[in-house]
Order: sequence, then C-alpha cells, then structure tokens
Amino acid sequence: MNTPLPLDTPGNLFVVSAPSGAGKSSLVNALLELDAKLAASISHTTRAPRGQEQDGREYWFISREEFRAKIEHDDFLEWAEVVGNLYGTSKAGIEARLAHGEDVVLEIDFQGALQVKQMFPMATLIFILPPSWEELRLRLQRRGDTEPDVIERRMANARVEVAQAKHFDFVVVNALFETALFDLKAIVHAQRLKYAAQLRHRSAVFQALDLC
Ligand code: 5GP
Repeated sequence: MNTPLPLDTPGNLFVVSAPSGAGKSSLVNALLELDAKLAASISHTTRAPRGQEQDGREYWFISREEFRAKIEHDDFLEWAEVVGNLYGTSKAGIEARLAHGEDVVLEIDFQGALQVKQMFPMATLIFILPPSWEELRLRLQRRGDTEPDVIERRMANARVEVAQAKHFDFVVVNALFETALFDLKAIVHAQRLKYAAQLRHRSAVFQALDLC
C-alpha cells in the first residue's frame, strides 16, 4: 500500500533525473546554492558510503532489513533498485515541507521519478540530457571510471534511462553548464508563477484586484 500525498500543497516538488555522467548532481547543487527557497531531500539507501559521504548528509545509509521495514510501513514516497542497491525517498519529511510552503527537489532515478508523478501529479519532472552519446562517454571517461566495461555498462544504462525522458515535463540539455543551470532556474521560476502559487504568495495583490 502506498498512500499518495495531498494534491494541493503550497510548496512545489521538483524531481530531477538523468543518466550517470549527464551532470545532474552538479546542476542540482548549483541550483540549491542559488535558491534559498529550495531544499534537497536526503534519500535512504542500502549502498555503502563512498569517500567522504556522511550519514544524514548525502544519504541515510541503512541496511536492507531496515529498508524493507520502511517499505512495509509505507514510509516511502517512492523507492527503486538502482544497480543492485535500494534507494528511497521518505514521505514524511517531504509532506511536512510542502505543507509549509517549502519547495523541495529530489534527485532520483527515472523509476522513482515516474512513481512520484503517479503519487503526486503536481510534481514537476525534469530530465537532464547529455548533448550526445559521444559527449556522455567522454564525461564518464573523464570522471575516472577508466575500466572500459564499467563505462560500457553505464552507457547501456544511459540508453535505457534516456528513453524515459519523454515521460518528463521538462528536458534540459546539459551541453553548457551555465545554460543548463539557467534553464533549470527558469523551470523553477515558472512553477512559482502559476496562478495557484501566485494566489498564495501575492494574496494582497489578488485581493486589491478583487480576484479573491
Ligand atoms: P549514487 O549511488 O551514485 O549516489 O546514485 C545512484 C542513482 O540512484 C542515481 O541516479 C541517483 O539519482 C539515484 N537515487 C538517489 N536517491 C534516490 C532515491 O531516493 N530514489 C530513487 N529512485 N533513486 C535515487
């Protein structure tokens, strides 16, 4: 059983997906730095921490048993298995933030993004595309994944992921980082200018114009 979120929340929910190497994390981190009204959600995962990652900062690192218990308790807005590890977005934190009018961004895989859209149709789904397969391969090689089979696996996954972009509301092509960031900011800004959002945030203007 998975209970949907309330339909009409004052906050906006943004969901960003992309194949590995498309620049999703760098773009979302830059967006978060520029936009104090936007908060990131910290996912739960069963994978082990990498490098300097800290529990409660990049992810909540939990066991498979703990993860299964959370599924049983209907704690996740969405969850998915990505390359052998489980990842999930906790419902409680997001629900509270959206109810308080905060905007939240999820950086999750396409399976999770499509689940979120089902649970919460108001969510804005954004897919980040690389400019070409050649450029994606170059970016993966530059990241230090020198093992050719690792790169080939990621390229194969990327083809599956990119094929899902048609189900998303917006597409940003990350050819030039600054242009892609501008596009992301524009999407967030446009959502905040929707009638219902303006009615909430600019109520004095709406009242003065006899619109409410
Ligand atoms: P990584 O292990 O490299 O941090 O992430 C692997 C993939 O899992 C990335 O595509 C990332 O966006 C995705 N991911 C991270 N958190 C979640 C989550 O809560 N749910 C889903 N469905 N995917 C997630």
